Amino acid sequence: MKEEDINNAHKVLKLASLIAGKPVSSGNQLAVHNPYNGDLVGTVETADLNDTNNAIETALKGGISMSRFERYAVLEKARTLLLERKEEFAQLITAESGLCISESHYEIGRAHDVLLFAAIECLKDNGQIYSCDISPNGKQRKIFTTSEPLNLAVAITPFNHPLNQVAHKIAPALAAGTPVILKPSEKTPLTAIRFVELLYEAGLPPYMLSVLLGDTKAVAEVLVQDPRIDLISFTGSVAVGKMIAKTAGYKKVILELGGNDPLIVLEDADLNLAVELAAEGAFRNSGQRCTAVKRILVQESIAEEFTKRFVEKAKEYVCGDPTNPTTKVGTVIDEQSAIYLESVVNKAVAQGAKVLLGGKRSGALLEPTVITDVPRDAQMVVQESFGPLAPILTFKNIDDAIELSNSTAFGLSSGVVTVNMEHAIRFIKELKVGTVNINEVPGYRIENSPFGGIKDSGLGIKEGVIEAIKCFSYVKTFSMPW
Ligand code: NAP
Repeated sequence: MKEEDINNAHKVLKLASLIAGKPVSSGNQLAVHNPYNGDLVGTVETADLNDTNNAIETALKGGISMSRFERYAVLEKARTLLLERKEEFAQLITAESGLCISESHYEIGRAHDVLLFAAIECLKDNGQIYSCDISPNGKQRKIFTTSEPLNLAVAITPFNHPLNQVAHKIAPALAAGTPVILKPSEKTPLTAIRFVELLYEAGLPPYMLSVLLGDTKAVAEVLVQDPRIDLISFTGSVAVGKMIAKTAGYKKVILELGGNDPLIVLEDADLNLAVELAAEGAFRNSGQRCTAVKRILVQESIAEEFTKRFVEKAKEYVCGDPTNPTTKVGTVIDEQSAIYLESVVNKAVAQGAKVLLGGKRSGALLEPTVITDVPRDAQMVVQESFGPLAPILTFKNIDDAIELSNSTAFGLSSGVVTVNMEHAIRFIKELKVGTVNINEVPGYRIENSPFGGIKDSGLGIKEGVIEAIKCFSYVKTFSMPW
């Protein structure tokens, strides 16, 4: 992309909800402002109830179903187009979300991998064969499995990874051959719409994908409840996820919800590694990752030394103008969220906690904040704080660490820092979570590995490209004499 074009990417975008590639014209608009400086980044023409019904009907009328090779070709082409436009996408993500530009570049790399892995899966047939003569009750037959697309799926995504969350639902749906209606976050709709446009440009038949923004009652709730839709794939907050579980009716529901992940540092840990993982886990993406380190649990015997080194490390996470390449922490999604996070810190302080670093707010910018002596019943320990807060709590021994770690309603992921294999295995077996990463941040994953939580973090149904393709398909069996 030429420098002039990159600068133009800052101009106010005028986008619209798209039904099978055609812009809606309801006359209502959503304005998207830059969380850092308040500038208008773009507007989106929103959909109304008629548009929502129209999108469902258009998708169901469909067209000729895509072959595996055609799906592969679209995803592969989209992957190369995304690489060509990575600068434009990165600038847009930063402008509408306030994430710093280095995080936006990282996000493009992740979405690229999602497209790549989904394209590869299109070329594999995962059918299985069951011989029936393995039992005295069997016959001389074989049972075969084949995956078939759903009629129509809905993907509802949050703001915190404006591109990657969308890619993680759309690419697997398209790899499965399933038409999908996307309802992205109203806080970050521009990247999502641009990505949909990129998929059309890559050759996607328009009926396979629509993207709708609009009033919750006219769009999201209608999509969730419509009986013609086979699957709702939702990523977002616990409150909305649980409401969807109640109202969706007879359809598949995938829920990827909040987290309150611990990084557990044992006294035998490599302390430099522990400090690095704690800082990366707590502050990357402005702390707005479902798998961010939201509680740092440190064994009492090393707490003082860990805390001293962690505060020094945290000073490297400079927060400021998200477009500056040296900024490591941009804003949170809006000023209201930053004010909320500030109040959570103040409540912990009122309970006896101490702020060792950061804590100051300016608009939607909140400094990376290290807090110690945090009581176990503080709001920031019990509930999810979606921002750059790093509360440190201590534990006596492994039993205590496991109990403390399992004490919240969440069960998404975890990280354990230890060089002792026996301890590592105990945590893997006893933590009530979807993932345990030894000597890594809770968020570590590769885009096609299974991912997802239990308890309030999700229903235990995994995403990640390969598992998500299974969700967006159903398995048919057929049998023949053999
Ligand atoms: P949110 O408020 O729950 O919103 C998520 C999506 O749901 C948005 O598109 C939102 O639309 C839509 N929505 C709102 N009300 C709805 C309703 N009644 N019916 C259907 N959809 C509705 O979540 P968020 O604040 O954007 O995202 C942050 C949360 O996501 C955090 O809790 C984080 O942990 C979680 N998260 C989880 C994972 C995971 O994989 N487990 C990954 C990332 C984030 P509007 O924007 O139009 O309101």
